[in-house]
Amino acid sequence: MLNILVLAGKNGTPVPENFRLENSTLTADLEDGEVLVRTLYLSVDPYMRCRMNEDTGAGYLTPWLLSECVDGGGVGVVESSRCAGCTKGDVVTNFNWPWQTHAVMKGSLLQKVHPQLVDGHLSYFLGAVGITGLTALLGVREKGNVTKGANQTMVVSGAAGACGSIAGQIGRLDGCVRVVGISGSDEKCRALVEDLGFDAAINYRQEDIPARLKERCPQGIDVYFDNVGGDISDTVIKQMNTGGHVILCGQISQYNKDVPYPPPLSEEIQEALQSKNITRERFMVLNYMNKADSALCELSQWVKSGQIKVLESVVDGIENMGDAFCSMMKGGNTGKQIIKISE
Ligand code: NDP
Repeated sequence: MLNILVLAGKNGTPVPENFRLENSTLTADLEDGEVLVRTLYLSVDPYMRCRMNEDTGAGYLTPWLLSECVDGGGVGVVESSRCAGCTKGDVVTNFNWPWQTHAVMKGSLLQKVHPQLVDGHLSYFLGAVGITGLTALLGVREKGNVTKGANQTMVVSGAAGACGSIAGQIGRLDGCVRVVGISGSDEKCRALVEDLGFDAAINYRQEDIPARLKERCPQGIDVYFDNVGGDISDTVIKQMNTGGHVILCGQISQYNKDVPYPPPLSEEIQEALQSKNITRERFMVLNYMNKADSALCELSQWVKSGQIKVLESVVDGIENMGDAFCSMMKGGNTGKQIIKISE
């Protein structure tokens, strides 16, 4: 007997009732090439909101179907195998892991990962030493034009989230002299400055963002790691220097609306980008997977040496996954939102 989570509804703002827990069984015998895995950790991510739409807006994302098991990033351990490349005890990961406590999967679709890369902290394969870390590192490297000695100031929105918290630290490691985060609570702002070494943090729900940005970025903004879009990003872009770079990572403030991706900018902001020669290219981590192996090694070394500090919010139990997803979409998480399924 196993537990699975199926999609039970779709609407504007996701609610826990969009997900339903069911009992199921697995077929007793594995076929050639199949592997039985026990799920250890699952990930909830903003892009999943797009999978609740009929049209996900992205060719590489398929919609989740009503009454079908949902899926996303997962990590687990092989319990039995009829696949030559997988052995009992191997730790494996996959981007389309079913939200189930156990699953039978094709071994050829699983990536084997080595626990020593994360000092045994296996959930990091879904975060800092997984797709989140890759998004932060490759986003900064591919679109940020961060240059040592160039006296650059970086601003990160969604800064206390999974990607943002890593991106700001990488901006500093790669050479920015000032890194400022924007996030949704005083507690998150405190964590950014006191735990992660950001120079300053702005609570967008409480503070006057334009005034605080002026104060905290006295030499203007050169690099903007944009996770949220909307009004926050418009405000940041208005204070960017000529020749600056926006890393267009995500636009979460717009995901519950029926708009294309990336959502259109106002004329005023388009004009600001053009007149100041600011680049703003869409960044998609999946387009850079040829650089993933070396990037994951770099991330692993930084995490193990403590140069990158990792924040996680961990919720226990597959029955709480729907709540965790909805909470993350509203800012309930600090760092990567993880769901622990089994020991
Ligand atoms: P996070 O861990 O950052 O979680 C989402 C956070 O977004 C929340 O914690 C909340 O923090 C913030 N948020 C929610 N609504 C709003 C709003 N209206 N305005 C401002 N902030 C809001 O998620 P991820 O790190 O996984 O993802 C961050 C971004 O990166 C997303 O836009 C995602 O789509 C994108 N992404 C892009 C990838 C790519 O290849 N381009 C790959 C992976 C992610 P707060 O409390 O501060 O409001």
